[in-house]
Amino acid sequence: VRQLPRQIHIYFSDTGGGHRASALALEAALLKQYGNQVSVDLIDFIRDAMPWPLSQAPETYQTLGHFPSVYKRAWDYDQDSDEWRATTSYQMMWRYSKEHILKYLQPRVYELDLIISVHPLIHHLVIEALEEMAKGCEATREEMGLPVVTVVTDLGSAHLSWFDPRIDLLFVPSQEIYQLAVKHHVPKWKINLSGLPLREGFWTADPISPEQKRLLQVQLGLRPTERPEVVLLMGGGEGFGRLTDVACAIGDMLVGLGFGQLVVVCGRNEEVRKSLSERRWMSRQLGEWLFQPLILGFVKNIDQYMTAADCLVTKAGPGSIAEAMIKGLPCLLTAFVPGQEEGNISYVTDNGAGAYIADEEPDQIAAKIQEWLSDPEVVQTMSANARRLAKPDGALQISRRICDGLLDLGTELEEVKATRMTRREQLLQR
Ligand code: UDP
Repeated sequence: VRQLPRQIHIYFSDTGGGHRASALALEAALLKQYGNQVSVDLIDFIRDAMPWPLSQAPETYQTLGHFPSVYKRAWDYDQDSDEWRATTSYQMMWRYSKEHILKYLQPRVYELDLIISVHPLIHHLVIEALEEMAKGCEATREEMGLPVVTVVTDLGSAHLSWFDPRIDLLFVPSQEIYQLAVKHHVPKWKINLSGLPLREGFWTADPISPEQKRLLQVQLGLRPTERPEVVLLMGGGEGFGRLTDVACAIGDMLVGLGFGQLVVVCGRNEEVRKSLSERRWMSRQLGEWLFQPLILGFVKNIDQYMTAADCLVTKAGPGSIAEAMIKGLPCLLTAFVPGQEEGNISYVTDNGAGAYIADEEPDQIAAKIQEWLSDPEVVQTMSANARRLAKPDGALQISRRICDGLLDLGTELEEVKATRMTRREQLLQR
């Protein structure tokens, strides 16, 4: 069978780090499983295809991150509606960006075979534009043969805008989001419960042996240990939250406790990394051991640090939580983005995989960690509960479902060309 790589566009936007991370994970899973049968492009659709000032959404999101109550109001707005498409916010957005989006998509749709959106504000606009184009040539969107798929990148709660009943397939990471999709009228047969698409280091949930774990601890600059004692502290990709206060409280507590190790991943927050690196930590000689936390900036091998650790202290980011579940790490959640990440807290606590204490109370966070480390059985139980939530094959499963279900890769070259040709002819008739 002569074949042509199928052209796939993945639309994301850098509003937060999660959408790009999911796009990259999907690209990796598609290429891993289908090699040169597919050709994948990642596009920041909001930046590239939408008009100013909407195209500035990535910058706006960063600014809004500093004003949680304003962000919460924006998130809540329209949330009571049944369908995002029917809301005034959406109608305004579509009317304002319609010409730009049509102009962006028109020259590209001829050669495309599939569009994947990993962002809540993109797929409606793309479907709307494709329907508009189809209408112009008296065809339906289905007849044009260009499926649009959405992969939800939130975990325990999701904005209404994620759901469009017209979508060809919808991938959701949890039962909670599945129920929301049904509530917002996405037909059940289109919804796939598959887990978040995560990068390759998280594609297996098999635990490693205690010996391997100790070896990894040494490789990462930790002390090899048999008891659960390694605390990993993170604040998402940007190192959000009161990392400094929490790190100091946990560090001081561990010195008092007489055992335990601390790894702080500051992400891109250089200021926090610098101040923690310069801090004079309380020290206490315990045998050969002098307490010294590992302070890191942005690291690419979070999967290794999570494998070497025994519990995670983090803001309630969906990526970090889903990754921790795969590594069987109990989570102490300390902060959340209002609205969007609230459901992630109950996702962890209701399932017995951790607890929540706001980072306004660093000493209470440290006390909770002390309680966990002092009772290895508690850690083991939470770890087992975390593993029950693990969905390591999200990215692989989503790409298989998409390629086998929608692209039918076995189709002969001539047929693929014919579909694209029909689409081109239809559209050129306009
Ligand atoms: N992360 C990373 N290196 C770092 C810090 C964070 O790779 O130094 C990754 C982390 O593993 C997770 C993502 O960044 O996959 C953060 O996503 P999350 O949804 O937790 O929070 P966000 O940063 O999107 O708010």
